[in-house]
Amino acid sequence: MTQGKTILILGGGIGGIVAAKRLRKGLPQEHRVVLIEREERYAFAPSFLWLMVGLRTRDKIVRSFAKLKRLGVEHIRGEVTRIDPMGREVEVNGKVISGDYLVVALGAAFVPETIPGLVEGGHNLYTLEGAERLSEARLKFRQGRMVILVSALPFKCPAAPYEAAMLLEYDCRKRKLRGSIAIDVFSPEPGPMPVAGPEVSQQVRQMVEGNGIGYHPGHAVERVEPEARRIHFANGSSAEYDLLVYVPPHRVPQVVKEAGLTGESGWVPVDRHTLETRFPGVYALGDVTGIMLTMGKPLPKAGVFAHGEAEVVAANLIHAITGEGELRSFDGHGECFLEVGDGKAGFGEGNFYADPTPQIRLHSPNRALHFGKVAFEKFWLFEF
Ligand SMILES: Cc1cc2nc3c(=O)[nH]c(=O)nc-3n(C[C@H](O)[C@H](O)[C@H](O)COP(=O)(O)OP(=O)(O)OC[C@H]3O[C@@H](n4cnc5c(N)ncnc54)[C@H](O)[C@@H]3O)c2cc1C
Repeated sequence: MTQGKTILILGGGIGGIVAAKRLRKGLPQEHRVVLIEREERYAFAPSFLWLMVGLRTRDKIVRSFAKLKRLGVEHIRGEVTRIDPMGREVEVNGKVISGDYLVVALGAAFVPETIPGLVEGGHNLYTLEGAERLSEARLKFRQGRMVILVSALPFKCPAAPYEAAMLLEYDCRKRKLRGSIAIDVFSPEPGPMPVAGPEVSQQVRQMVEGNGIGYHPGHAVERVEPEARRIHFANGSSAEYDLLVYVPPHRVPQVVKEAGLTGESGWVPVDRHTLETRFPGVYALGDVTGIMLTMGKPLPKAGVFAHGEAEVVAANLIHAITGEGELRSFDGHGECFLEVGDGKAGFGEGNFYADPTPQIRLHSPNRALHFGKVAFEKFWLFEF
């Protein structure tokens, strides 16, 4: 008879939740599935974009972890303060917890404070509270220049700042303020979503500019002057703003770095098909990983990849523990909806592991795709 195993899943975001649910479903009860998460509730980040323009409220996109507990996942609320990947143990709330397997799904940490003036001067689009404050600020904003700023690379969901710009533009039009509000996007990228290839990048740029939004690639922010409402860039230029919306700089969580799990990229290197780290029995998935593509750029950070990777890790752990099911390999396939305003969305899909470059196709925006995105949100939140 197999001895009961313990799988510790660190992080209850998209990757951690999918891994926990799949493992619990596939493993007999003598095995423990433990999910460690510091937040009390889970918030569905893709919906922050709708919340920012008043199309969602907090209660519609936030869920408690109670259902996971009902499914039999042990949920520990607490901050992971130490990870020992050799010993496969972690410290949470001052207690050491040991496992047979570790799944590190701690995501990316936001560090807006590393850019002087950014926190004081702008609204963080990437947190629930930031998106809520932005929604309030947008209602008071009736004229001037709105700037959407990508503050550093890499950042999760490469489409999000462009979707945000187009949704905000649509919101201004709906409120009959478009004539008095200018909208600009500044980014250090050479173009939108460059990993998806020049054709897709050009298509997205045309959508943005087609809505009268100014696009300024190659602009890496150095500092913000909140009083003067001015952004200074590394290329020597500067830009004025009246309302600043930003994507914060991302870093690997400190506890992951201290565990010695990171590599040259600053993120966690893993086998790109199994997600195993260089420590046997220790897996990492989602935003915390750094997976280099053949083209020399990293796999974008996105929920769709965290989800797919979690399914692979769970299937392979079930196979390793019970001998049941099939071994799986993550194949780099991904897709995402791209909200463009006017109740429409586009849809990008393809294989990011294709050699020598990812093969991605972007379907033109229409209403059906927007409803597809809404349906996906409802499905995810219902399932949770
Ligand atoms: C505005 C916005 C829109 C987006 N839209 C899309 C989209 O349309 N499609 C898409 O595919 N992706 C989208 N994303 C990206 C997607 O949300 C992330 O890529 C995805 O959540 C990554 O999953 P993850 O499990 O790796 O990390 P996360 O979901 O970030 O989860 C990490 C978890 O770890 C917890 N944690 C961190 N450190 C500790 C610690 N020390 N102790 C305990 N817990 C800790 C965090 O609280 C968090 O819950 C969007 C993101 C944003 C911000």
